[in-house]
Amino acid sequence: MDAKVTHTLHHYINGRKVEGVSGRFSPIYNPALGEVTSQAPLASADEVRAAIAAAEAAFPAWADTPPSRRAQILFNFRALIREHMDELAELLSSEHGKTLDDAKGSITRGLEVVEFACGIPQLLKGEYSENVAGGVDSWSMRQPLGVCAGITPFNFPAMVPMWMFPVAIACGNTFVLKPSEKDPSCGLRLAELFSEAGLPDGVLNVVNGDKEAVDTLLSDPVVQAVSFVGSTKIGEYIYQTGCAHNKRVQALCGAKNHMVVMADADMDQVTDAVMGAAYGSAGERCMAISVVVAVGDEAADAMMEKLVPRINELKVGPYTDPASEMGPVINPEAKARIQGYIDRGVDEGATLVVDGRDIVVKGHEKGCFVGATIFDHVKPGMSIYTDEIFGPVLCVVRAKDYEEAVNLINDHEYGNGTAIFTRDGDAARNFAHRIRIGMVGVNVPIPVPLAFHSFGGWKRSLFGDHYIHGPEGVRFYTRMKTVTSRWPSGIRSGAVFNFRAGGEH
Ligand code: NAD
Repeated sequence: MDAKVTHTLHHYINGRKVEGVSGRFSPIYNPALGEVTSQAPLASADEVRAAIAAAEAAFPAWADTPPSRRAQILFNFRALIREHMDELAELLSSEHGKTLDDAKGSITRGLEVVEFACGIPQLLKGEYSENVAGGVDSWSMRQPLGVCAGITPFNFPAMVPMWMFPVAIACGNTFVLKPSEKDPSCGLRLAELFSEAGLPDGVLNVVNGDKEAVDTLLSDPVVQAVSFVGSTKIGEYIYQTGCAHNKRVQALCGAKNHMVVMADADMDQVTDAVMGAAYGSAGERCMAISVVVAVGDEAADAMMEKLVPRINELKVGPYTDPASEMGPVINPEAKARIQGYIDRGVDEGATLVVDGRDIVVKGHEKGCFVGATIFDHVKPGMSIYTDEIFGPVLCVVRAKDYEEAVNLINDHEYGNGTAIFTRDGDAARNFAHRIRIGMVGVNVPIPVPLAFHSFGGWKRSLFGDHYIHGPEGVRFYTRMKTVTSRWPSGIRSGAVFNFRAGGEH
């Protein structure tokens, strides 16, 4: 164990903490210090199978628990999350690095999914048609799938797991969560709180792990459905492997979100929006704005004039300093990767207007900080434009007109989020109609749907058919059954050998 590692985390299986026995561990950094402070055990296939077995054993009783009883436990869970908000935010920020306010905001977004799931008795109501034929009624219901699994990324260690397990569990499924090995403590703590809320043992299990754990979840025949959120390369693998094992899979993946700035936009509003959307959470958001497409040089120049001084003033620092507006990135490897992209942008000929490569935060000299960075005159072929950098690096592309801006976005491989800033209703409506992107903002930079809508992208930002949470989440975690029944049973129609028109059963 590294000298600075103060503790080793555990798995959470069948309602209790379980020590890892594989002998393999993943380091967990405090990114503001740039030091490893704890470690997560990486589960072997047998340890993952123990979690799947616990979930399988818990499924029949949980699936038979009335939805209103499940909702009561979710209400208790909601209260406990609120009570433990400060503790959860501290855990989150100490492993992820984002500011405490941002951590609390993201936990609250997860909490809203719990609140949505509290409405499960209403959400599961089926459909009924009386007398579809003489004495025959037809009705449909949605039933749970069984054991479901969730594989989540490092950037939202509380919110993204809460996009998944509250809905899955509300629907009557049991769940195995495999959180990011970079910051798993929030996921573990949420599972403990759910138990405290009255969730029966085995309904929610958490295993820490890497590819070995994921591959076990993808291939085990007991697992019925897999929700994944993470990078596109891994998400495509998860989708293909899960489908090859006949599982239902939704894989929400990487992004390169463009914000179009028209010359008529309110440039103060644009500047505020870009600051938060590009640099909040150090750009480590799948809905971060990483490209601004300014339509015409007039719009570009007006925006840059206001934006650049704001970037230079941004307060970068650790979450323990309440004045910090942007924290570090997740670990030294991410810092080096992002710095490498800035080097490449310079080599490729983009204009580096603000350079965050050499930032030093006093008292945190070894921290994983990258300063807010902006490139102007970025061109579509450059790697800083094509790739998801996942850091505080903003690219400004100057388009000659609106058509060029729309084509750029529609031609990009990712399709998660986008936004347009304008005062022109025609342009806004045309944009919303034509753009090939899953989530669109009009004068809203990060158009993340609330819990009662569903979240998801297009193109290589999502593999699978269902968006996450909201009504699509309920559909993903249930399957439909339709019953056609004849009462009174005494009505005879005689033996029927040919199909008949509806109404002639
Ligand atoms: P990642 O793909 O590296 O990891 C995600 C999960 O996959 C983790 O649990 C990890 O342990 C697992 N994993 C990693 N390598 C694996 C492998 N070879 N085989 C099997 N499993 C593996 O992603 P990350 O770096 O943790 O998160 C950042 C990415 O997530 C970004 O691309 C971001 O855009 C994306 N993201 C997308 C959304 C969305 O809703 N579209 C939301 C948040 C994050």
